[in-house]
Amino acid sequence: MTSTLPAKVTASTSQHGTIGGVPGAPSRTRAQALLARVTGGYDTGGTEVQAPFTGNPIATLPQATDAEARAAYSGARQAQRSWSAVPVAERQRILLRLQDLVLDRQDEVLDLIQAETGKSRMDAFDEVAAAALCASYYGKHSAKLLGAKRRAGALPVLTRASEVRHPKGVAGIISPWNYPLALTALDVLPALAAGNAVVQKPDNQTCLSALWLHELACEAGLPEDAWTIVLGRGSVIGDAIVEESDYVGFTGSTPTGKRLAGQIAERLTSFSLELGGKNPMIVLDDAKVDAAAKGAVTACFSSAGQLCVSVERIYVHESVKEEFTRAFVAQTERLRLGAELDFSADIGSLTSADQLDTITRHVEDARGKGATVLTGGRARPELGPLFYEPTVLTDVTPEMTVYAEETFGPVVSIYGYTDLDEAVDNANATAYGLNASVWSRNGARGRAVAARIRAGTVNVNEGFAASFGSIDAPMGGVGDSGVGRRNGADGILRYTESQTIAAQRGLRLRPFRGMPPKLWTRLMSRGVKAMRHLPR
Ligand code: NAP
Repeated sequence: MTSTLPAKVTASTSQHGTIGGVPGAPSRTRAQALLARVTGGYDTGGTEVQAPFTGNPIATLPQATDAEARAAYSGARQAQRSWSAVPVAERQRILLRLQDLVLDRQDEVLDLIQAETGKSRMDAFDEVAAAALCASYYGKHSAKLLGAKRRAGALPVLTRASEVRHPKGVAGIISPWNYPLALTALDVLPALAAGNAVVQKPDNQTCLSALWLHELACEAGLPEDAWTIVLGRGSVIGDAIVEESDYVGFTGSTPTGKRLAGQIAERLTSFSLELGGKNPMIVLDDAKVDAAAKGAVTACFSSAGQLCVSVERIYVHESVKEEFTRAFVAQTERLRLGAELDFSADIGSLTSADQLDTITRHVEDARGKGATVLTGGRARPELGPLFYEPTVLTDVTPEMTVYAEETFGPVVSIYGYTDLDEAVDNANATAYGLNASVWSRNGARGRAVAARIRAGTVNVNEGFAASFGSIDAPMGGVGDSGVGRRNGADGILRYTESQTIAAQRGLRLRPFRGMPPKLWTRLMSRGVKAMRHLPR
């Protein structure tokens, strides 16, 4: 496995003028300017976050109290009234301008994402692409998705029914640290497009990427107060978000999601939960082995495996297992780990010490219980404090933590199978159901196997990118992977209340004056039967 010179990272520790002392990162002044966008003059002290590449401080962040987070809602409520009165066509124009700004100024945010998350530049670019695709999708389609729809009325011709959509009000969005630009865009932009105001709590570790998108959205024409960013720990301001929002969009771990769902239920507020996964890949006996091995490398190790849809379990037909494993391990060992803010490294660092602890614990538990480490299995402190090698395990058994628990890191287990039904059963055998991948030379066969997997998205001859990039199609999880969907029509309609407006003309839905009720019910029964034959 190739690596960067340790000297690179050591040198960075003296470069305190940049964010986290990361060479080439934006200046600390730029970070302070972005932080000035945080609403509220919190005077409760700050918290410091570190750059994963160096361990040096990024910035000291203002942290809201519960009262300060609640105060953000009164401003947001006021802003929502005027924002919802802005015609949808104008909201769309703002999103299309935002798409241009994101693409034109991507270098700025690629630097910020790398400095905050430690991921490679190519992985950071996936975030830029997702944000731009999302802005363009809702920039083009919101009016059609939100527009009033004619519905079949109770009585043909005489009842005119239509469904109209109203914004929920203020949407509270809670975002994790792993895809700070993409997940901010995917959840915040459709909420705004639907005429809601947004109060967002990004993760402290990666708030600058969210603040950057906020800055660009305002440049594109969004009124500043329509989207408010509050910073603080979930344990301090989480209750305010749950209790003040008219909709809660949460992305994060399953335990936190379940806890919040219980709290939200008390208020009967609607919500979506985008949670964890233990995503499987099935390689069929007719798969192109080399392509599957290459696809698996991207599927398992993008963003150092800290991606909710990345693959952590691979089921390979015994007839191709040896060839697949050889190719997969060889390609994994060619990956270049590095901390540069350019495209020279394939894989970056983990994002936090907690991540490094979890990954080390999972691998050591597996090793201690008899798993074989085919490659990787160790930290690389000489590259930076949080680097960990892409790791391939085999001989993994159900007693091992890594078997069914989400690792959320660059660790994957390979299992052989002879019977496809057994492989599908194993793929479906965890509590999760977020994403899956199937490899076959035969597209129809691949899609048929995909439909048998219990997961919100399944990619055929791809790991996750095909579904992740298909913004027109819904994305989300089943079981412990979540409730609700982002993207597509679902991704914007979740932020609306539907209202049925039904107008009756002429005949009322009661007996005419003087008509015996029994006769009326007979006529109506005949009518209801006849209506079965109408086209709609
Ligand atoms: P997490 O600990 O649940 O945190 C996620 C966010 O929730 C953070 O901003 C966190 O802030 C906040 N939070 C924690 N407790 C809260 C509370 N009581 N009230 C309100 N907010 C609270 O998850 P994570 O470990 O950061 O993220 C990784 C997990 O997210 C993985 O399981 C991954 O699979 C999942 N994920 C899912 C998707 C998806 O689309 N399905 C996408 C990305 C990530 P604080 O830490 O400051 O409290």
